Amino acid sequence: MTNPSLLILPGDGIGPEVMAEVRKIIDWFGAKRGLVFDVSEDLVGGCAYDKHGTPLHDDTMAKAQDVDAVLLGAVGGPQYDNLDFSVKPERGLLRLRKEMDLFSNLRPAQCFDALSDFSSLKKDVVAGLDIMIVRELTSGVYFGEPRGIFKEGNERVGINTQRYTESEIARVARSAFDLAMKRGKKLCSMEKANVMESGILWREVVTEVGREYPEVELSHMYADAGAMQLTRWPKQFDVIVTDNLFGDLLSDLAAMLTGSLGMLPSASLGAPMANGRPKALYEPVHGSAPDIAGQGKANPIACILSFAMALRYSFDQGDDATRLEAAIEKVLADGLRTADLMGPEGGTPVSTSGMGDAIIAALDASL
Ligand code: NAD
Repeated sequence: MTNPSLLILPGDGIGPEVMAEVRKIIDWFGAKRGLVFDVSEDLVGGCAYDKHGTPLHDDTMAKAQDVDAVLLGAVGGPQYDNLDFSVKPERGLLRLRKEMDLFSNLRPAQCFDALSDFSSLKKDVVAGLDIMIVRELTSGVYFGEPRGIFKEGNERVGINTQRYTESEIARVARSAFDLAMKRGKKLCSMEKANVMESGILWREVVTEVGREYPEVELSHMYADAGAMQLTRWPKQFDVIVTDNLFGDLLSDLAAMLTGSLGMLPSASLGAPMANGRPKALYEPVHGSAPDIAGQGKANPIACILSFAMALRYSFDQGDDATRLEAAIEKVLADGLRTADLMGPEGGTPVSTSGMGDAIIAALDASL
């Protein structure tokens, strides 16, 4: 049997620093758990532009289409701000998402007990929180036509169009139900069926797909009420599925319930490949953080948690994903803190690589 394949694209700024820690973790799983990956590495973003004059070379795109999962660090930096729009570092990332047709964006909001003071909400509201927002990523109002700014009589009018086909709704709903089956078997779908026809169709199609998943408890909520409930008592949710626009807002809201940008992973999934695995791109939510790049200050946990998501959602290694998350929980409970996690209660300061090494030590202790 061939090993599962991973393409690593560290990118710019702190991307290579945090990815170096992920490489240690990948090596650990190979050596200690027999989970050996065929790992290749390539360029994306500003560094790809510097070498090839494009933020994503065609060969890299072809490799991304060919592997079981892509793991990306971050792209961008001030030195690329004045580049033409067509070759900006972010275009590399957008091309990956578009050509891999990654329609399902997974954003977990997970609160590690040791960091529950970081939330703007009360500790008992967020401690132990573990929810997942599934956002439709390739359609809806960000893509619908007509769009533009037009002249209407004496004034201008700005138009965007919310448009969803049944199949677009069904495929993201299916990915959310599949996820719910791997988690707490509860799914809440959010739209505005009270005022939007696309919301009525969304609710109908999600309900229809739900008949294929009798074990999953499905509920529906208007997205504005959902925002309120997410801040009132987020632990009532397990998986939430919603459209592109509401998902953009709700996933940021939910993520920040838990504190630092340096802790937030994400996954973007597409259709199943011939081997049954979904097309997949895993990446931290944060950017390239040029203000701290090259100083050993970056928190590698968001990127390491993105690899944990890959273990769970691409490679069906849920137990090892949990092992990795528990190692992170242990290190945080022991008080180790990169600079971004240093709160008023203090802690033991560690560098990027110090955090990676501590997680490896916790993994060793888990055997
Ligand atoms: P950013 O996420 O890079 O940084 C925001 C703040 O959070 C900074 O103060 C940074 O130091 C801090 N931070 C971010 N990640 C951290 C980590 N892992 N550990 C510790 N601190 C961390 O956002 P920005 O400053 O708005 O953007 C910087 C560059 O990144 C820009 O070029 C932007 O276009 C790009 N960007 C890329 C992505 C991506 O690759 N997915 C996402 C957002 C921004």
